[in-house]
Amino acid sequence: MKRQELLEKLLKKELEGLRKVCFKYQRRPFLRNKVMIVEGDLRDLNAHGLYEQVDVKDKIRYTHKITIDSRVIDELVNYKYNKWDAYAGINKSYYKQKLRQVIRHELTHGMVAEYYQTFSDILGTNCDASPIFLSMLHFCKGISHHQCTRSFRKSKIFEDIKDIKEFSKLDRYLTELIFKYQDIAEDLKMIKLNDKDIVNNTFAFSPRNAGLEAAHAWTDNIVANVEGRVKELVNQSSCFYIGCNITPDMIKNLIDRKVRYGQFEEQKQGYYLVAEGKAVEVDRIEYYKFKSKIA
Ligand SMILES: [Zn+2]
Repeated sequence: MKRQELLEKLLKKELEGLRKVCFKYQRRPFLRNKVMIVEGDLRDLNAHGLYEQVDVKDKIRYTHKITIDSRVIDELVNYKYNKWDAYAGINKSYYKQKLRQVIRHELTHGMVAEYYQTFSDILGTNCDASPIFLSMLHFCKGISHHQCTRSFRKSKIFEDIKDIKEFSKLDRYLTELIFKYQDIAEDLKMIKLNDKDIVNNTFAFSPRNAGLEAAHAWTDNIVANVEGRVKELVNQSSCFYIGCNITPDMIKNLIDRKVRYGQFEEQKQGYYLVAEGKAVEVDRIEYYKFKSKIA
């Protein structure tokens, strides 16, 4: 059998298996959008599989594209029984299962995108460290080699979902969870540091870390001439990644601390002078020179 045929065959099997797990008594496929599967070289990413959306028309219409690393296919098609295999208890079906598990993992990325991202204001529901993705992956009996998965198994959310056997129950839990995250994100969208300085916060689910990651903070330092009076203000835009171990009620305290102590992975400062409604970006020295004149 040709390698591409093998991939298509296993893809079909996985899609049907997952449909039964999630939508057994419904007349709907596991994924509504088209799925394509290809072989590729993922050595640089150090990954077995890759999920992407291609041919994107809008938020709901696109094609799921799954790339399988050539080495995973090689292992299966080049399999020859030897002593080491016997010792390790590995046979051909081990490699077949391994390939099927990669396909299942990538299909779950697609499923969460179709099912939850369409209504979630918080991006990244299907990212590798998203609690939504990892819950669905557990339900679909999929696996992940990302490090965050191990700590997810000790989390409150995993405790809540680990024994759920019906898709409708899991779906209700995850939908409510997303709404709770959204409520918190809405509450924390703008934090006033004092009467003039503000922080705008955006949230996304995390691509890798189990905790709450303060990804970046862009700080604009502004000296403005407002109705003849000179004012100095700070406007910060911060982005946070919600990892799989973070429940909605943990977020506020963590954010307060990270904003107060400036614990961001990446920080940038911008300096602006505003006069007659026009903002001009200046360098730091110019900004402080100007500020000292007006102080
Ligand atoms: Zn993944």
